[in-house]
Amino acid sequence: MKFSVLTLFPEMLDALSESIIGRAIGKGIIETEYVNIRDYSTDKHRRVDDYPYGAGGGMVMQPQPIYDAYKAVAGESKPHVIYMSPQGKTLTQKKARELAQKGHIVILCGHYEGVDERIIEEIVDEEISIGDYVLTGGELPAMVLIDCISRMIDGVLDSQETASVESHYDGLLEYPQYTRPPEFMGREVPEILLSGHHANIEKWRREQSILRTLKKRPELMENAALTDKEKEWLKGI
Ligand code: SAM
Repeated sequence: MKFSVLTLFPEMLDALSESIIGRAIGKGIIETEYVNIRDYSTDKHRRVDDYPYGAGGGMVMQPQPIYDAYKAVAGESKPHVIYMSPQGKTLTQKKARELAQKGHIVILCGHYEGVDERIIEEIVDEEISIGDYVLTGGELPAMVLIDCISRMIDGVLDSQETASVESHYDGLLEYPQYTRPPEFMGREVPEILLSGHHANIEKWRREQSILRTLKKRPELMENAALTDKEKEWLKGI
């Protein structure tokens, strides 16, 4: 999987080279390139933005440098192009899993008031938001997106870090986690986790997963994949 990020601030993306994602980049499972849109400005002062037509505050990123930066990474190929935008569909685990099937994703990061609408019409396949709030630029959202997609790619997580039981993977939140010591501030680790009985532990974890989803994010229950037995059990409590 290759991610090409079109940005005015490529150094911000360097934070991705830490930890699990950094290891995946090091192993070559993920390839990243951060392209400075300013390098493609034809303006003698390397300008990439201008005042909005029709007046209004702020600056708008011009289409030409973005288009040329895009052509430089795409060449004759047609990668999947995403514009990080508070106006896009909100990122979900399901969307990340779907995007993990793509071979090459180009991510456009806006800044200031955003980008000229015509570049969205010309090159963008979809707009993705990381939540209903507005950030200064698309770089943090791009990092969130790359991290989230990368975790869905084979070989990125090792067997100790499996994503399959984590929150949102199957529509439920993950069960509570405990590590040493067995007692902390008078609070003990649930006895069942110390029992060594794997089948019982799995059953307890699944029940905890259902119960905490119901408690913390009840709206998720509507789409959670529960067995008939689990639905009956839930009715009973
Ligand atoms: N004027 C735009 C609007 O109201 O829709 C917001 C522009 S915002 C200040 C600058 C850039 O930050 C956007 O072009 C986008 O790339 C990025 N951005 C801000 N909030 C975001 C969010 N919630 N999700 C994804 N990208 C976001």
